[in-house]
Amino acid sequence: MLGLMQNWPLTVDRILDHAANWHGDREIVSRSIEGPIVRTTYGEVRTRAKKLSNALKGLGVKPGDRVATLAWNTGRHIEAWYAIMGMGAVCHTLNPRLFAEQLCYIINHAEDKVIFTDLTFLPILKEHRASMPTVEHVVVMTDEAGMAEADFPGALCFETLVAGGGPDCVWGDFDENTASSLCYTSGTTGHPKGVLYSHRSNFIHTLVTLGVDVMNISARDTVLPVVPMFHANAWGLAFSCAAAGAKLVMPGQKLDGASVYELLETEGVTFSAAVPTVWLGLLTHMRENKLGLSTLKRVVIGGSAVPEAIVRGFRDEFGVDVTHAWGMTEMSPLGTLSSPTAKVAATDPETQLRYKLKQGRPPVGVEMKLENDAGERLPHDGTTFGRLMVKGPFIVDSYFKGDGGQILDDEGFFDTGDVATIDGDGYMQITDRAKDVIKSGGEWISTIEIENIAVGHEKAFLAAVIGAAHPKWDERPVLLVKLMPGVESTKEEFLAFLEGKIAKWWTPDDVVFVDDIPLGATGKIDKKLIRERMKGYVLPTAKAKETA
Ligand code: AMP
Repeated sequence: MLGLMQNWPLTVDRILDHAANWHGDREIVSRSIEGPIVRTTYGEVRTRAKKLSNALKGLGVKPGDRVATLAWNTGRHIEAWYAIMGMGAVCHTLNPRLFAEQLCYIINHAEDKVIFTDLTFLPILKEHRASMPTVEHVVVMTDEAGMAEADFPGALCFETLVAGGGPDCVWGDFDENTASSLCYTSGTTGHPKGVLYSHRSNFIHTLVTLGVDVMNISARDTVLPVVPMFHANAWGLAFSCAAAGAKLVMPGQKLDGASVYELLETEGVTFSAAVPTVWLGLLTHMRENKLGLSTLKRVVIGGSAVPEAIVRGFRDEFGVDVTHAWGMTEMSPLGTLSSPTAKVAATDPETQLRYKLKQGRPPVGVEMKLENDAGERLPHDGTTFGRLMVKGPFIVDSYFKGDGGQILDDEGFFDTGDVATIDGDGYMQITDRAKDVIKSGGEWISTIEIENIAVGHEKAFLAAVIGAAHPKWDERPVLLVKLMPGVESTKEEFLAFLEGKIAKWWTPDDVVFVDDIPLGATGKIDKKLIRERMKGYVLPTAKAKETA
C-alpha cells in the first residue's frame, strides 16, 4: 500500500525559494573580486538568479546542458549556481587550482557550453580557449567597469546579462532525480572523474547537514564558508545556509589568515568550515598579532585529518569548538563528524579531545562497513583496519559517462579508497588512503597517524610519511619534515618525539628534512608528487642490508 502524502519534488530551487520567502532580507556579504565588500540578500539573489536563468536561455542553454563556473566564493557565484540548477541545467564547478591541461580535459569531458569566470581566471581561459571546442560563451562575473579590464574577445558581462534577463522564470517542475551539478574528483590517480549530483541527492544532503550533530546551522548563525564552492560541493553550505536562513559571508579569493580574520570579526561570524591549512594560517595570524575572536563559536574541519594542535589551539586559546569531519566529493560530501555521543559528552575534556581527533560517526543516510581485501566484514573494535565502504541516497552510484565502470559492490556499497578503523562507540578513524598505506612485513602502517603526531612537534611546520622499498620488509616508513622557518633539528630529535606514541615497528627508518611538502589542488598533501621527488631515494636500513 502506498502512502497518501504529497509528491513534492525535492529540487534545490525550492531551497532558495524558501530562503527568499522566509529569510528574504538575510544578508549575503562578499569580498568581491574587484576588492570592496558587497552586500545582497536572499530575496535579491533569487530575483537576480531568475533573470540570469532567462539570460542563459537566451544564450541557447537547455535543460541538461553543462554550464561551468570557474570562480571563488562570492554572491555572484551563488546567483550563477541557483540560476543554472533552477532551470534544469547542470552547474559544473571547476577547480582553478588544477593544472591547465586537467582543466581543459574536464571542460571537454563535461562538454561545457558556457563558462562563468572571475576576472582572475581570464588569462588561463584565454591561453587555452582553442582547446575548449564545446564552449560557446564565456561570461565574466563582473560589471561593465570590470569588463574594461577584461582582455577576452567576445566575453559577456555578468551584470549586463542579469540586467537584460526577464524577471519571471519558472524553476523546477522536473523530476527530482534530474542532474543538478557536476564536480570532478581531484584525480590523484588517472584522469579526474565526474560526480553528477541530482536535485534529490543535494536536497536530502541539505536536510541531513542541518542536524545538530552534523553542521548544526540555524537562522541565528553567520556562516563563513572558506571551503570553496568548487571543492566537494562546498560541503553543502551553499544549500544548507539558504535552507536555514543563515547569513552568508563569502571570502572571495583572499583565504589568508589576516583576510579570513577580518571577515570573521567585522561580520560577526559564528560558524565556519575549511581544510586544516586555512586554520593553521588563521591561528598563526592571531598569535603573531595577539588577537582574539569575539563571535566565532564553532568550526568544522575536514578534507584531511585535523592535527591535534589545531583542536587544542582553538579550544584553549580562542574558546572555539572544533568538529572534525570526513567526506568526499562522491558523498556530496559529508560522511562522518566527530560530534560527541551522550557517553563521550560525559567524559573529561581530554577524553573528549581523543574522540574529536577521530573522523567520527555517520549521520542518518550514510551506511558504512569495513572490509578486508577478501571482501570479508571486519569488526568494529577500534584497532582492525580495513577498506571503508559506504552506501546512501547522496552517495555516487556511477561516475559521469560511466568512467571507471561498475563502482559498487554486490551489496551496493562504494569503496571510498580510504582505510579506517571503527571503534566500539561507532567512531571511524581514517588510517590512510588505500594507495598510501605502508605494507611492512604483511602488516599495515598508517602514514596519517605518524604524520599527525610528527606535526605536533613544535619545530614541525608540515610532515608527510611515505613508504620506501625495503629488501626484507617490502616497505618501511620514511618521515619527511618541513621545519618552521629558521629552526634546525635532527633525525634523532624526531624519532625520540615519536617514541612511545606509536608502535615500535611503526618507527620511521629515516627522517628527511625538506624545503617543501607539496599540496595538491584541494589542499591535501600530494603524496604522488612526493613519491616522484623521492625516486632514487634508498633507505639507510636498506643500504645497510645491501652492504651486509
Ligand atoms: P575530496 O573528494 O577531494 O574531498 O577528497 C576526499 C578524500 O579526502 C577522502 O577520501 C579522504 O582520503 C580525504 N579526507 C577527507 N576528510 C578527511 C579527514 N577528516 N581526515 C582524513 N582524510 C580526509
